Amino acid sequence: MEFDFEKARLETPGCRHVTHFNNAGAALQPQCVLDAVTEHQQLEARIGGYEAAERHNQRLEKVYTSIANLIGCSVDEVALVENATRAWDMAAYAIPLGPGDRVLCANAEYASNYIALLQLCKRSGATLEAIPDDAHGQVSLQALEARLDDRVKLVSLTHVPTNGGLVNPAVEVGRLVRPSNAYYLLDACQSAGQLALDVAEIDCDFLTVTGRKYLRGPRGTGFLFVRREVCERLEPPFLDLHSAVWLSTDRYEVRRDARRFECWEANLAARLGLGAAVDYALSWGLASIEKRVTALAQRIRTNLAAVPGVRVHDLGKQRCGIVSFTIDGKEPDAIRRALLDKRINVSITDRGSTLLDMDQRKLVGMIRASVHYYNTEEEIDLLVENVATISAMPKLPA
Ligand SMILES: *Cc1c(COP(=O)(O)O)cnc(C)c1O
Repeated sequence: MEFDFEKARLETPGCRHVTHFNNAGAALQPQCVLDAVTEHQQLEARIGGYEAAERHNQRLEKVYTSIANLIGCSVDEVALVENATRAWDMAAYAIPLGPGDRVLCANAEYASNYIALLQLCKRSGATLEAIPDDAHGQVSLQALEARLDDRVKLVSLTHVPTNGGLVNPAVEVGRLVRPSNAYYLLDACQSAGQLALDVAEIDCDFLTVTGRKYLRGPRGTGFLFVRREVCERLEPPFLDLHSAVWLSTDRYEVRRDARRFECWEANLAARLGLGAAVDYALSWGLASIEKRVTALAQRIRTNLAAVPGVRVHDLGKQRCGIVSFTIDGKEPDAIRRALLDKRINVSITDRGSTLLDMDQRKLVGMIRASVHYYNTEEEIDLLVENVATISAMPKLPA
């Protein structure tokens, strides 16, 4: 069946104003998300914040159900947090590490995760090692298998990196990690909303997601999945009166479900917006979203590769909706600004966001054009034409 992108565009106010290829930064929100957020915000203003929360209690609870449906877990395995970074931190900082323990990650690791891992290793005396890539540029399963011993306590994988179309083999990694002693933490920040995710199939212990990227939710939203068996074993790095109960002068009890990783205060309007975004994604179906996004991205890659002076840099056997490229002799940020002048949104990705991978490939910065299902072939042609014009210019305005 054809993807009804015209319906998607009608339901996306931003499509009338911009050509948006920054979906890996923050996708355009559909009207239903905007409505869910503003309706609750207005209710708070009208009747009071606590009273609005009470009135919308069922809707707030339903957000957990929607997320559980999205990734194939139980409601008690979901924690709502303010972004993917905090979700990831709450998981990673909960894992006990000691001298001699080993932590493994891949070359696509996101900067915030890697910085946190460095700190965790510095504090604990554990060591951090990056697993090499295979010939396709994805994490090498052979190298991972060879490194997995009893000292490995954490395997951290970024499913889709912030800087390109690579999709790491999350399921195969899960199969290798499961029989070991290690926890498996998957950063699905860029894959959620564009690829179908099933935590039972991936077999990860934790999965972290943000709301504003491919899920099309509001900024400042995210969630953490924690496998039930793991949840009760790990005490979160921070506790408060929501994640734990104060029993007496010297005792507290931590809640049993994944909400032990949450904090009491939250932007409830944004949470409802996240729930609406997840329901909206589910209404399209993740398989059909994936098919359309992947095909559109491939069109960009093919057409850009034919433009003189343009280099497309995406790695991997399987590729997603993120396209990364450079133009010989032109600064990525000057290119981004030139496109913005034409109301075409792209972003740049710099060395510091994915340093292991960028240094390995001797890249300092790239343009990132990330498509969503509401983008059209005409928009892609417009992007490619403008890139060709920029590439042919002797010099860009500073
Ligand atoms: C954006 C991103 C993050 C961080 O998400 P926030 O919601 O900004 O905290 C983590 N990992 C990857 C791969 C990302 O692209």
